[in-house]
Amino acid sequence: MDQQFPNDQIFVAGEWQKGRGAEIRSDFAAEGTENTVISGASADDVDAAIERAKAAQAHAGWSGLKPHERASYLYRISDGITANIERIAWVQSRDTSKTLTETRALATSAAATFRYFGAVLETSDDLLTAPRGAYQTLSVYEPLGVVAAITPWNSPIASDAQKVAPALAAGNAVVLKPASWSPLVSLELARIVEEAGLPRGLFSVLPGSGREVGNRLVEHPDIAKVSFTGGTSTGRHLALAAARKLMPVSLELGGKSPTIVFEDCDEDLAIAGILFGIFSSSGQSCIAGSRLFVQRSIYDRFVARLVEATNRLRVGHPFDAATQVSSLVHPDHRESVEDYVRLGLDEGAELLTGGTRPDAPELTNGAFYAPTILAGVSNTARICREEVFGPVLVVMPFDDEADVIAQGNDNDYGLACGIWTRDYPKAMRVGHAIQAGTVWINTYKQFSISTPFGGDGDSGIGREKGRSGLRAYQRQKSFYTDLSGQPHPWARWPADD
Ligand code: NAP
Repeated sequence: MDQQFPNDQIFVAGEWQKGRGAEIRSDFAAEGTENTVISGASADDVDAAIERAKAAQAHAGWSGLKPHERASYLYRISDGITANIERIAWVQSRDTSKTLTETRALATSAAATFRYFGAVLETSDDLLTAPRGAYQTLSVYEPLGVVAAITPWNSPIASDAQKVAPALAAGNAVVLKPASWSPLVSLELARIVEEAGLPRGLFSVLPGSGREVGNRLVEHPDIAKVSFTGGTSTGRHLALAAARKLMPVSLELGGKSPTIVFEDCDEDLAIAGILFGIFSSSGQSCIAGSRLFVQRSIYDRFVARLVEATNRLRVGHPFDAATQVSSLVHPDHRESVEDYVRLGLDEGAELLTGGTRPDAPELTNGAFYAPTILAGVSNTARICREEVFGPVLVVMPFDDEADVIAQGNDNDYGLACGIWTRDYPKAMRVGHAIQAGTVWINTYKQFSISTPFGGDGDSGIGREKGRSGLRAYQRQKSFYTDLSGQPHPWARWPADD
């Protein structure tokens, strides 16, 4: 496998060229080393990419293609990703310090996303709506134009695919801006898209800072929509910019998701699911189950077993197949996680495990942080309300269904929820009552590209994935065609006098 980093070139509307913006450094945080430095895009690069994207999108060779013809490009991109899974996984693991096991899964999921949206496109219909007069009514879906996709560092290839695949399928051009901490894997995607023969201009990858490249994208008059995944404060800023242009925006934002353990659950299943829900990806997951509510009748025993299971987790190098918890993405991010744990302790939390950097000599150069469990604070503490985005779990007791619904909903986020119980009707009642875009019952962090995903409240606006994911990148147009052949009676024309 080729273990070189991409050249110092970005992908501007089908052309590889040196970026004219500030340098971006990609680090391998697990070893505390530098991967490479690339020249990021400038505002002029953004303008050039959008101008060429607009021309390419308007060309009938793209927007006028029949669905099965456009879908064939998505299938080729999917095949290209599949053929390069090891390379993509390696680049992404170097960029983010995620385990190879996880980055292989993310690459596989990205390939599936392109294939799925090709199939959705081929099987989507326009609407023949019920007539209410002597006319035929038809509603059709058209592309928006040039779409900006802005993605975070935590699962870049999967986040990229969830935006780029439906946007291209819908007939748009896409300008993608990856996060500054993880610019490399999106450039790999650009290479695969190029090899798939996508007409030039339709796709750009512009690494660069959010402030310069991101802002320019959002404010550019020829960007028809921004699809954003990232933090809530950035999302709010983008929504305000979008409001000024009256531009549609999709926002996949942060979370502080409750996991609820009822006394009647299968405790071993629950413990395994909770560990995976909070500590996989080192907790750097929007859907991390970071607030755990355990029914008071089993609280002491369950939490003791959970701590024991947490202490058995294998913290290690991302290329070691036995590793469960790898390094955080960047030393600065570890500092932010550490600040949150200090805050929790200052708020009166008790440290049940973790709260330190692992002391194994082979991990000391990396940005590792031990899986951490805090308890003894109420749901009103900041450590229970704010997203830490690291391997930090806060555990709280609850009395009954009403109590846990109230506590679970007492938070500004609304992304996900986990429920562990053998009582299915109770799980459904609680699942309906909790503010969340996704509810997992006796499982956690399961994903399917065919199931819509998104959040409510501070977790965002809109849904990705599923058949309706295509519609997020289209506008609807309705046609009325007269079938009566009669002049409108209001006009009283032609005159009969
Ligand atoms: P972030 O700081 O909000 O950055 C996300 C992206 O936005 C990056 O590409 C960033 O560029 C860019 N950006 C920053 N400021 C911008 C601006 N003013 N205008 C336009 N773009 C701007 O988030 P992050 O730290 O990368 O990612 C972690 C967050 O993402 C967490 O809150 C997590 O919950 C959320 N997330 C949500 C989902 C979901 O589906 N709901 C999935 C994954 C992650 P730079 O990197 O250059 O700053």
